[in-house]
Amino acid sequence: MSLFEPRRGPLTDGERVMLVDAKQRRYLLTLVAGQVFHTHAGILAHDDVIGVAEGSEVATSTGRRFLAVRPTLADVVVKMPRGAQVIYPKDIGAILLAADIGPHVRVLEAGVGSGALSMAMLRSGATVVGYETRADFARIARANVAEWVGEEAPYRVHERDVYEGIDEDEGYFDRLALDLPEPWRVLVHAERALRPGGILFAYLPTINQVSRLRAEMSRSRFELAETSELLRRTWHVEERSVRPDHRMVAHTGFLTTARLTTRISPAR
Ligand code: SAH
Repeated sequence: MSLFEPRRGPLTDGERVMLVDAKQRRYLLTLVAGQVFHTHAGILAHDDVIGVAEGSEVATSTGRRFLAVRPTLADVVVKMPRGAQVIYPKDIGAILLAADIGPHVRVLEAGVGSGALSMAMLRSGATVVGYETRADFARIARANVAEWVGEEAPYRVHERDVYEGIDEDEGYFDRLALDLPEPWRVLVHAERALRPGGILFAYLPTINQVSRLRAEMSRSRFELAETSELLRRTWHVEERSVRPDHRMVAHTGFLTTARLTTRISPAR
């Protein structure tokens, strides 16, 4: 199944589906004719899901009901196999615009981890080259992309340490997306690998790391730097009780972007 083209019409054999129970618990599965899905409340035959319209209610042998829908990219990102922690969907959405990711944009991404950000950038039409030091994570990322974006996705992951350098031709990349602990160690390579005007994006969990990055950027050719964070608060909405949910994810990471100029900074 490809995330490039939306599927429409009834749910089909071989396709991924998300089942949601009355308590809003979500399960991802691949529909296979003749197979069954075991739940703690009975058995659901895949054949009872294949052929129904998306958004239909289906029932197990004991009458437990599920809603069957196709998963969104955000559903997949939080449910898919992961090695490293993935970037949360709330941040991924903002990153796509902050880094101006779009069709045919050439991105160098390091490290790729589980491939969540890769998937979102690929689905936006970008071409992604990934550097990842851990072979096991590189494999997970490739598998997630093949499964959820498609085998044909323009995606290559190299087992490489980006702190040691970037191999591609000078000025080849339009964007650099960094989700690793010491992005300042990449600045010198980024100045070569990015074209002038290109955007560097870094995702960092602590503000100490952000300060270090921003300080080193001020001594580089990167300018127009911006740092932000996103707080997303969900709401509980019922007839007589409409209020914010009690719990929220209070902190994920800081987003920093900057653009490569041709100027030599006066601070250098
Ligand atoms: N953004 C990813 C998660 C990345 S986790 C996602 O959304 O799924 C950070 C990853 O960076 C880890 O997999 C780690 O192995 C990798 N990494 C750390 N230092 C690196 C380096 N110097 N070069 C390449 N990859 C690196």
